[in-house]
Amino acid sequence: MKIYNTLTKQKEEFKPLEEGKVKMYVCGPTVYNLIHIGNARPMIVFDTFRRYLEYKGYEVNYVSNFTDVDDKIIAKAMEEGVSSDEISTRYIEECKKDMEGMNIKPATVHPLATKEIGGMIDLISTLIEKGNAYEKDGTVYFRTRSFAEYGKLSHKNIDDLEGGHRDIKVVGEDSKEDPLDFVLWKPKKEGEPSWDSPFSDGRPGWHTECSVMAKKYLGDSIDIHAGGEDLVFPHHENEIAQSECANGCEFAHYWMHNAFLNINNKKMSKSLGNFFTVRDIAEHYDLQVLRFFMLSAHYRTPLNFSEELMQSAKSSLERILTAAEKIRNAANNGADGAITAEEQEQLKKADEFVAKFEAAMDDDNNTSNAIAAIFELVKFTNTVIDADSTKEFAQSLYNILEQLTDVLGIILEKKEEAQGDEDYIEEMIAKRAQAKNSNRDELLEKGIVLEDTREGTKWSRK
Ligand code: AMP
Ligand code: ZN
Repeated sequence: MKIYNTLTKQKEEFKPLEEGKVKMYVCGPTVYNLIHIGNARPMIVFDTFRRYLEYKGYEVNYVSNFTDVDDKIIAKAMEEGVSSDEISTRYIEECKKDMEGMNIKPATVHPLATKEIGGMIDLISTLIEKGNAYEKDGTVYFRTRSFAEYGKLSHKNIDDLEGGHRDIKVVGEDSKEDPLDFVLWKPKKEGEPSWDSPFSDGRPGWHTECSVMAKKYLGDSIDIHAGGEDLVFPHHENEIAQSECANGCEFAHYWMHNAFLNINNKKMSKSLGNFFTVRDIAEHYDLQVLRFFMLSAHYRTPLNFSEELMQSAKSSLERILTAAEKIRNAANNGADGAITAEEQEQLKKADEFVAKFEAAMDDDNNTSNAIAAIFELVKFTNTVIDADSTKEFAQSLYNILEQLTDVLGIILEKKEEAQGDEDYIEEMIAKRAQAKNSNRDELLEKGIVLEDTREGTKWSRK
């Protein structure tokens, strides 16, 4: 099996650190809102990858965190006048409901950042002792230049970064030795959740969490670390720097990153008004359709979300489910008696589609080609199953189909389906964009100008 490793920029043969076992860490969502369909992409693609590893007989220890302490959670808590804890607990629960709807297996462990603070303090203390970190006025910074391999994941040159960083020196971070240094621990501000530590009463930086949770639940060296491509830099680059300096060994051997999900060819963002939660979609579609849609593209190619593509995913999935129903009927009502010689031959033919499916999945989790192999199998079953088929033959074919769709996380028994309104998504995109513009005009009349930035919408007075 080959997987594309962001670290080496090539497809590599997968060899686990320990025979038959896989240690895998996937960065989970920051829980301050319902998850959006972009967040669903890594969940679905890496869950599928995990299922395939299990199909191949590996025992997978799959760890995926919830980031439950973060500026966005604190802001949401202040907005609602409740504690950060209440916000994160609420949205973890909601996220788990969405995951269940998308048939995403629960991780072996879903650690919470706030429950791992002790480990983070230990990691930071080790880094200080080793000279890789320093404290200034209660803030602890990682000394980026102390790690000679910094930039190896994102393939950036440290000196180019230095130039870029100079222009964007963050206010309040003037005490850094070097603009490249990043925060491991920050002192609390009024009203923020905080923990006592040797550095200050404060909280950890985001990158620190994942290094610590991966170490605690998987060990110093892991097989696979995964997440969306936006995490390559700085999040994963910083995780590598912290973990490798503290533990003195390679952190993760393979780094897998999914490309982004866009909407009608535009980046999905709240401020552009083209933003969908998984819950929005669940109102109109069985979430299995969303899962199937996500897997219809290779995980490293950008994927465009639109009503048309969802409808097409829906009817493709429908074809598989209808074929499954036909085979199930034959397995229940077909001819009694032993499988015929001709049927034996046909089962061998069916194995060819299994081999195609596996070849696709072995080629860097190519779910798109794997689905094509399933369609070939479905077409084949439609031609060979008839009124004379034996129950045993039909059941054998059904088992083959079910084994493959199970890797993709597709359930063959049809569920009661939420009715898809043909133009629902287009309408919603149009409505949201319209609402956004009229809000803008209203604010403009009051002398407030909105500006869309990477971090969200910012406002200023005219
Ligand atoms: P966040 O909650 O922003 O940390 O994101 C959780 C996960 O979702 C990360 O792995 C992100 O890379 C991923 N992600 C966020 N937005 C998108 C998107 N539009 N398409 C694909 N993945 C995304
Ligand atoms: Zn992470």
